[in-house]
Amino acid sequence: MPDALEYARSHADRFRDELFDFLRIPSVSAKSEHNDDTAEAARWLAGQMSAAGLESEVLATPGHPVVLGEWRGAGDDAPTILIYGHYDVQPAEPLDLWASPPFEPTIREGRIYARGSADDKGQLHMHVKALECWLSGAGTLPVNVIVVAEGEEEVGSPNLLPFVEQMRERLACDAVVISDSAMFDEGLPSLLFSLRGLAYLEVHARAASGDLHSGAYGGAVGNPAMALARMLATLHDEHGHVAIPGFYDHVLEWDEATRASIRALPFDEAKFRDTVGAPALVGESGYSTLERLWIRPTCEVNGLLSGYTGEGAKTVLPAEAMAKVSFRLVPDQDPRRVARLLEAHLREVRPEGIEIEVVELHGGNPWRADPSGPMFEAAGRALENAFGAAPVLVGEGGSIPIVGDFERVLEVPALLVGFALPGCNMHAPNEWFTVDNYDRGIGALIRLYEELATSLR
Ligand SMILES: [Zn+2]
Repeated sequence: MPDALEYARSHADRFRDELFDFLRIPSVSAKSEHNDDTAEAARWLAGQMSAAGLESEVLATPGHPVVLGEWRGAGDDAPTILIYGHYDVQPAEPLDLWASPPFEPTIREGRIYARGSADDKGQLHMHVKALECWLSGAGTLPVNVIVVAEGEEEVGSPNLLPFVEQMRERLACDAVVISDSAMFDEGLPSLLFSLRGLAYLEVHARAASGDLHSGAYGGAVGNPAMALARMLATLHDEHGHVAIPGFYDHVLEWDEATRASIRALPFDEAKFRDTVGAPALVGESGYSTLERLWIRPTCEVNGLLSGYTGEGAKTVLPAEAMAKVSFRLVPDQDPRRVARLLEAHLREVRPEGIEIEVVELHGGNPWRADPSGPMFEAAGRALENAFGAAPVLVGEGGSIPIVGDFERVLEVPALLVGFALPGCNMHAPNEWFTVDNYDRGIGALIRLYEELATSLR
């Protein structure tokens, strides 16, 4: 391993130049005008994997291709890790808010500004370089490696699950490693222990067959807007708990040690409140802000539509009202079951004279790691060595359904270790990633592969 680390130090400038080449390719998966660029990014990445010593292939899918890299020289006795990342990026618009062009990487005050620097080209490139450090610096790798880099993460990964299912045997491994997330704070390496799932629905309330005059009919015919408001008001009780019967049935309680480690994080509640510009923070009673975001499920109204909302007055009794309702879910809640519970509850509280329809839009399963196992300990040692601080365990309020899919299809655990920093503007103008975390992160990954070689054996 010293040879691999030394190789990283002596080639750091070239690595950064190559990263800049990667960042210059505008691989925006959402826009078909960039299809050639996205294909070019895939070829470029395959070339980097080959130069690192992997066998690489660009594999077609019905959408953007998957770049597959493999090195199996560690032998049957050594574990195999699958590294997942994505080479596509979000659109850069609005361009006038960028201080330097999004596809012309620029360093200012130790930060690399470019679309994809943090999400996820920078972090994916760190893995490819860490592999090169082992194979070129030490002449070997302590683990067998499969790299799966997709080009459709920013458009919902429509072809990734079919790809993984189809390639199940070739992708057989002992663990999946993903670097596409952030550290809790600068100098504080972090391991992800949970992701929330999602259930997204539309609720329609109807009364009359068309809009009515509120003077001629109001008071005698049901009002869907009022009815929907009353129904939505029953979704929570006065303590912020979701009041849908059965909603918490499968919610796993976290142990006191994990809750204590969340409480111990250096979280500035006032700063968080200022950032969102809210007069006060509210939520489920009995839980801290981070617990409400990471380990507790939610029910939110995402949108409301009914009646007349234009200028001035229009005395109308609306025929229909609609609400978009979504749930962030925690293990072991099931999105389909939660959708059914919502519908049953709404039918129970539905006022007379109102018909309702509940439409499921989409859903994703929650994910939770076992942070006590040897894999987390191995990752902890690697990160502490590279950053000089033991990693903290953090949750993620958002959803990445593919993590659970990998675990389910390949029947192995996933390790989510990210190196972006809070405020790095993923998906926004002026996305950045620090030079320091790029360099240190490569060192951490070099160590991680060796730690995993022992802990997964
Ligand atoms: Zn990403």
